[in-house]
Amino acid sequence: MKVAVIGAGLTGLTAAAALKGKAQVEVFEKNKVAGGLCATVVKNGYRFDYTGHFLHFKNEDIKKRVQGLFDKDELLCRERKSGIYFKGHFIPYPFQSHIHYLPERERKECLTGFLKVLRDSRAEDSGSFYDWMLSRFGRGVTDYFMLPYNLKLWTVHPSEMTTSWMGRFVPRPEAEELIAGALSRGKEKEGYNALYYYPRRGIGELASRLAEQAGEIRYGCRVEKVFPEDKVLIGGGKKYEYDILINTSPLKSFAADVFSGEDLKEDAALLRHSSLLNINLGWKGSTGPAVPEGTHWLYFPSEEYDFYRVGFPSNISDSVAPEGRSSCYLEISCRPDELQKLAGDRDLIEKTVKKLEDAGVLPVSADIETEVVLPIEYSYVIYDRKRDGAVSRILDFLEDRSVLSGGRYGKWEYSTMEDAIETGEQLAEKCLKK
Ligand SMILES: Cc1cc2nc3c(=O)[nH]c(=O)nc-3n(C[C@H](O)[C@H](O)[C@H](O)COP(=O)(O)OP(=O)(O)OC[C@H]3O[C@@H](n4cnc5c(N)ncnc54)[C@H](O)[C@@H]3O)c2cc1C
Repeated sequence: MKVAVIGAGLTGLTAAAALKGKAQVEVFEKNKVAGGLCATVVKNGYRFDYTGHFLHFKNEDIKKRVQGLFDKDELLCRERKSGIYFKGHFIPYPFQSHIHYLPERERKECLTGFLKVLRDSRAEDSGSFYDWMLSRFGRGVTDYFMLPYNLKLWTVHPSEMTTSWMGRFVPRPEAEELIAGALSRGKEKEGYNALYYYPRRGIGELASRLAEQAGEIRYGCRVEKVFPEDKVLIGGGKKYEYDILINTSPLKSFAADVFSGEDLKEDAALLRHSSLLNINLGWKGSTGPAVPEGTHWLYFPSEEYDFYRVGFPSNISDSVAPEGRSSCYLEISCRPDELQKLAGDRDLIEKTVKKLEDAGVLPVSADIETEVVLPIEYSYVIYDRKRDGAVSRILDFLEDRSVLSGGRYGKWEYSTMEDAIETGEQLAEKCLKK
């Protein structure tokens, strides 16, 4: 059986490794390296990932599999140290559990907003993410954090979104916990990533090790067209035959442009996503005074800042920045049609550095010696009301034609690296059953 795999990200690599020896597998990767989003760029002794990529596990088998790829001291285990930068104050994450850290007026508003929600009968659930946050937390938490932060991250108003992506990703403290967090200061609370793992030399190490197990990978080979009737694909200008095709490239472009024919174009046009500009900086010295020592990352809900999150890899691993130096990554979400312009905007970087200095995140007149700007075309899939139907129609149509599509973008979903590894294994299993 010949299996062709599009994409050498974590999903494609894991699927290929699981099929090795059981099928004839060929992986097609448009880039020159493996990893997809899970890659590390090295410059001047700094190691920058495509923004923060940290491993958190719910599945023991996958955790063991990942741990098995590294020597003990190569895979760091960290307790999350993160918070929200709110009007110059540091609020531990998650915001809704730490209202006591807010200035008095905002604290009052968040607490009364929440008590109102408890007292009034809850508004009928329209299924929108916006109504969900309002009915769950009330006005204060919504207006000060949930709404502005999510607006920046997703680039669309949460009233356009459903809640079907949330799963374990949005912390939902019980009423007692939220009230306790408003009355006194507690420690940073749990969450799906309270404890996480990170390869000492950057997340790209994970992909490199999985690639060693994946067999033959055709790098620099973009799959341009797939002809399902003949079970043939065109990659890098050449023709390849397959019995089953695994796709992990973005479903939207695969269905609209790569898969031949018109059948999927209409549904593909319904799929929406955001893009992301990832700015990485390296400088001499340490972080600025507003960053509590050892902080791993900070969320920025205020619209005063273009970025929604800033992380500090050098506070997580001593091997991602040269000695005596620090590094940070910033994430700026945008519409896909804005990305190239943003990526070429020199003023944006200068403006951003100034904002970070003024906020006390960088030291004053920071001695920045390295910059790496990484435009990410596909970052977050937007869960609007049309997404679920369109995705399942496309996936069913493809599967009937021997194409299995999976992974964060292949299935057009909000998922993690652990999910990608799990999906890769499942896709391989499904292939073998077929
Ligand atoms: C901002 C951000 C932060 C994240 N942080 C975390 C985190 O902290 N923890 C976590 O667990 N997860 C995180 N994730 C999610 C994680 O990156 C993904 O779940 C995972 O990397 C997806 O792997 P994948 O193989 O499915 O997709 P991808 O990594 O996108 O791999 C797909 C591959 O297909 C290739 N490709 C595309 N088109 C073609 C074509 N036509 N021909 C050939 N090759 C092609 C691409 O080059 C790519 O290598 C984050 C994601 C984002 C956007």
